[in-house]
Amino acid sequence: MPITFEHVEHVYGADTPFHYAALVDVNLNIPLGKVTAIIGQTGSGKSTLVQHLNALLLPSQGKLTVLDKTIEAGKTTKGLKSLRGRVGLVFQFPEYQLFEETVLKDIAFGPKNFGVKEEEANQKAIEAMKLVGLDRELLERSPLELSGGQKRRVAIAGILAMNPEVIVLDEPTAGLDPQGTIEMMELFRKLNKTYHKTVLIVTHDMEQVFRYCADVIVMEKGSVRLHTSVKEFFHDGSLCRSMHILPPALIQFREQLTAAGYVIDDSVVTMDELASVIAGQVKSHG
Ligand code: ADP
Ligand code: MG
Repeated sequence: MPITFEHVEHVYGADTPFHYAALVDVNLNIPLGKVTAIIGQTGSGKSTLVQHLNALLLPSQGKLTVLDKTIEAGKTTKGLKSLRGRVGLVFQFPEYQLFEETVLKDIAFGPKNFGVKEEEANQKAIEAMKLVGLDRELLERSPLELSGGQKRRVAIAGILAMNPEVIVLDEPTAGLDPQGTIEMMELFRKLNKTYHKTVLIVTHDMEQVFRYCADVIVMEKGSVRLHTSVKEFFHDGSLCRSMHILPPALIQFREQLTAAGYVIDDSVVTMDELASVIAGQVKSHG
């Protein structure tokens, strides 16, 4: 069953002078089993959107369906706790998520909260730490003493320890160094490919969208401007440029080479492939 949004609106500060509609008539049909990117300018409603997926925020109007739960504005939905175990959300700011005294307790909190015995929860926490590349030495440290990148890894591990079907990550690589970013993106790819998790990633990084995601949702002023495949989105640079988004380096390079008379297929998606296509054409023109 896909994830669907039907005419979802979200108003912050309803019935106050600060009334603000952060989502306006959002309609979406997100297939399970894929890695989908959610992009858009700051303030376009990305974080508000993803917090609906595990019912942290509820729609002010409209309805959404996530797995087998339908959440409709103004109605109470039963079983939201179980939904929160099946849809793991990693916040944009990890500090919001970390509150236990130690890293171990923090990561084991989720499974324990869902009835897993302490020893087994700790075991799951240690496995999740390994997955995200956190050193075991950090087990007894306070999460608040860690670096920004480590905090983010703890927050991600806390979600993975619950083994959710859907993993939602709000700007998960902010604060990570380039190597850490690659490791994290590779982990999300593995969770999708090997463990068949549905992965939704909010990001500003077009290189990540291009390399790791299958589909892309573009948010604009609280609405969905576009939902398409990454292949279509970066077919050439024109579609993303029309939305004031700079295409990934490889696409810019492909555009320049095409303008210079080279024939480069859409299937060329790495620098190595591009180099060999160019080499072939340079040789044949001798
Ligand atoms: P994004 O993640 O794309 O940057 P957000 O979903 O965080 O966007 O925010 C969308 C809009 O809603 C912004 O204008 C923001 O200021 C506003 N907003 C976000 N959170 C709150 C809140 N808790 N109370 C009031 N307004 C908010
Ligand atoms: Mg945000």
